[in-house]
Amino acid sequence: MPDIKCTVTECEHNQNVKCAAPMIQVDRNGTNKALKSDNTKCETFKNK
Ligand code: SF4
Repeated sequence: MPDIKCTVTECEHNQNVKCAAPMIQVDRNGTNKALKSDNTKCETFKNK
């Protein structure tokens, strides 16, 4: 997987401010059409 910088260090998949998950799923965040990054969210997040 390409390098994904992620500052969500409370996620179990986060290692040194990068995502170490083998794959991630990103979905729209409560909207039918994403118009800005705030309209997206990482579904692979897992609290440590
Ligand atoms: S799973 Fe999502 S929230 Fe967690 S480190 Fe990877 S990109 Fe960040």
